[in-house]
Amino acid sequence: MAYSNKLKEVFTTELKNIEDAGLFKKERFIHAPQDADIEVEFPVGAKLEKVINMCANNYLGLSSHPDVIKAAHDGLDVRGYGMSSVRFICGTQDIHKELEAKVTKFLGTEDTILFPSCMDANTGVFEAILTKEDVMISDRLVHASIVDGMRLCEAMHDTFKHANMEHLESKLQLHADKRLKVIITDGVFSMDGDTAPLDQIVELAEKYDALVFVDDSHASGFIGKTGRGVHEKYGVMGKIDILTTTFGKALGGASGGCVSGRKEIVEMCRQKARPYLFSNTIAPVVVSGVLKVLDILSETTERRDKLEANAKYWRDGLTEAGFVLKDGDTPIVPVMLFNAKLAQDVSNDLYKEGIYAIGFFFPVVAKGQARIRTQISAAHEIHHLDKALAAFKKVGAKYDILGKTKQEIIDKYGM
Ligand SMILES: *Cc1c(COP(=O)(O)O)cnc(C)c1O
Repeated sequence: MAYSNKLKEVFTTELKNIEDAGLFKKERFIHAPQDADIEVEFPVGAKLEKVINMCANNYLGLSSHPDVIKAAHDGLDVRGYGMSSVRFICGTQDIHKELEAKVTKFLGTEDTILFPSCMDANTGVFEAILTKEDVMISDRLVHASIVDGMRLCEAMHDTFKHANMEHLESKLQLHADKRLKVIITDGVFSMDGDTAPLDQIVELAEKYDALVFVDDSHASGFIGKTGRGVHEKYGVMGKIDILTTTFGKALGGASGGCVSGRKEIVEMCRQKARPYLFSNTIAPVVVSGVLKVLDILSETTERRDKLEANAKYWRDGLTEAGFVLKDGDTPIVPVMLFNAKLAQDVSNDLYKEGIYAIGFFFPVVAKGQARIRTQISAAHEIHHLDKALAAFKKVGAKYDILGKTKQEIIDKYGM
């Protein structure tokens, strides 16, 4: 037998090590469409609970929007279920080109190329455009998919301290002799909910003749006055050379991603990016859904405005209750608990109160930085937020962390 007990043991041992380290990830099952109110099975086998979802990337509440669902149905009827081909053989429909044009217009770029996911966009783009003569200079907190993309690329890699512009500038000076220098950052950092200072980054890029790469997955659709993204917030639309994003979060939440930006760079991706060349693109049903999402968002800013108001209400409520938060003004609001066990205990108690918000701890965030990352949606009504606030206050009081400083929480619970 090829898969002998000895071979099997390699994996069972490894899995046990993960479990022993307290790092075993368990899925929770949602028995409902993605929305503010969901039914959850947790742990597996437990009775279903109706809870308020405070941890989805469904920022604009479009994941189950009736118009989006209808558009997806129509797409299915008119363009079929699957493409059974990669783009350049026979996998490109008119609606794929229509979506690329619409994304370009929405993001204010020159051109766009679709990818099966943003992970694929990030793993494909660097290798497609850079060589050994180039350097990638990335913020130290960029998303894992960017890290993987840089690993696949033979250009030199360097980093700068998170959002630290002096450090970035020193790295740009250090690598002055390179053919191409690319500054690489997330638009919104998903764990902390802070935004990259793109105005300053663009200024440095202009000063040192560098390209700017931004992954706006946690921003497209709702950050900036008309929801175009972090580049709109900082007044640098049209100045981001490479912008990647996902359709799997605010923009309908199904799947798919893109590289948008300079025409020549997008064309290089069409010629060379491996996930584009060797993997099917987005299915017609999803393309139709995303087209509808962009129509909705281009017509009115109602949803992003509601999201902004909700996020402010939530942040103010938690602050008033005396929680320690990460500063920021995005719908990602991390409630800092510092200790990993405390984060898990608080999350479990919140669940008993009908609030679904999971704890994050090492290795997802740094040691001693455990937290409950709450995410606000335009699908939340004030009654959802009030109920969630009441639950947070009740659980916060139980653990005696309300009105306590970071140091006091750490003294009581450890890092
Ligand atoms: C979610 C996320 C991705 C991955 O998006 P997919 O389309 O699901 O692959 C990439 N980058 C960032 C910053 C993300 O938050």
